[in-house]
Amino acid sequence: MRQSQLFTKTRKSAPKDEVTKNAQLLIRAGYIHKEMAGVYDYLPLGFRVIENIRKIIREEMNAIGGQEVSLSALQDPEIWKATDRWDDSKVDVWFKTKLKNDSELGLGCTHEEPMARMMQEHVSSYRDLPRYAYQFQTKFRNELRAKSGIMRGREFLMKDMYSFSRNQEELDAFYDKAIQAYKNVFERAGIGDKTYLTFASGGMFSKFSHEFQTLCDAGEDRIFVDKEKGIAVNEGMMRDEILKSLGVARETLVESKSIEVGNIFKFGTRYTSELGVTFKDEDGKDMPVVFGSYGIGLGRLMGAIVELLSDAKGIVWPKEIAPYQAHIIAISGGNKDVITEANNLYSLLKDHGIETLYDDRDLRAGEKFADSDLIGIPTRLIVSEKTLSAGGVEVVSRSSGATTLVSESAIIDVLTKE
Ligand code: ATP
Ligand code: MG
Repeated sequence: MRQSQLFTKTRKSAPKDEVTKNAQLLIRAGYIHKEMAGVYDYLPLGFRVIENIRKIIREEMNAIGGQEVSLSALQDPEIWKATDRWDDSKVDVWFKTKLKNDSELGLGCTHEEPMARMMQEHVSSYRDLPRYAYQFQTKFRNELRAKSGIMRGREFLMKDMYSFSRNQEELDAFYDKAIQAYKNVFERAGIGDKTYLTFASGGMFSKFSHEFQTLCDAGEDRIFVDKEKGIAVNEGMMRDEILKSLGVARETLVESKSIEVGNIFKFGTRYTSELGVTFKDEDGKDMPVVFGSYGIGLGRLMGAIVELLSDAKGIVWPKEIAPYQAHIIAISGGNKDVITEANNLYSLLKDHGIETLYDDRDLRAGEKFADSDLIGIPTRLIVSEKTLSAGGVEVVSRSSGATTLVSESAIIDVLTKE
């Protein structure tokens, strides 16, 4: 992408009402646009980041047997009444609307009910199970407070997976696989070292659910971490009998603020029994399907990455998340040879499938560097009169600042190693 053609502009300051670091940096760098509190648009760079996150999650969900679907965001009240979740006193984040004939409709805040009812049409016998379906779908939630930038939207993209199993053991086995898949996602997203599997209340149907909580001062949650065991508990778990059953001691737990980047639940036969989602077991007996659900907020994760991986100058994207791998910066001062060289380098990278942003704009070096720092692409390639006469390209790492002069013939090797 030639930066002269990119319609987004960087800006020196964020809107006054935007208090979070994630939205401030993302707005300033041109990744997102703020419509109103809790409502954001994703612009070309931001869209590419979301697509990279989607790709990672998709690969990890496919690897554990997930089948991708896409359910409607418009929801039938009847199934929500069946599970007693239509009433605003039960679910307090509903956006509801009406058809022309005055009948009610919900804008999906989650998809347990429609997913379970859909699956009933396709599951009849024990041979049809287990099955796993997931989607990337827009959720609408009328959140009371939306003060965490893209980490708490009133409309947001969620990956939600649902597991349909014959019995508890089958659910347990899949749940453990999902935990590992989630760990892989957060590792690849660059926040694995700060993200803890966190015991949370499971409601009435299983002892616990699990949150994936990322340590961060900008987080809305509070957790208590046992660094040695690599696990944490949330506030609701800080009771002596619970801590004992988890084998952790109050004295060794360290309190920290955190961001809930993911959440997984074992529902057992909650929802499926109410909705009549059953299968015939080996004896021909009707049994309720055993259900689980597994969520990750893509915007929440993107915001968490920005909160954790940025410095005074801007964002520092991890490799797999970055909108582009390389950022070519031509400092020509009108020198045609520099422009030709930079154009050649851009073609070379393109030919090797390296996603590149090419700053071909007619701007001062200082402005280009400041924009590049703000945007946060992992590797910067500087082409100038100076680098030409030294016989190469200056390669600068965004994360470490390390600078090396690399000859053009070696540049592809340098960019594709590791
Ligand atoms: P929270 O406790 O933060 O309100 P939740 O427990 O209601 O979230 P879930 O229903 O478990 O959220 O949703 C699964 C995942 O979706 C969460 O772990 C989070 O990553 C993401 N998520 C939830 N609400 C939002 C939101 N308003 N904006 C962005 N992402 C969200
Ligand atoms: Mg949650």
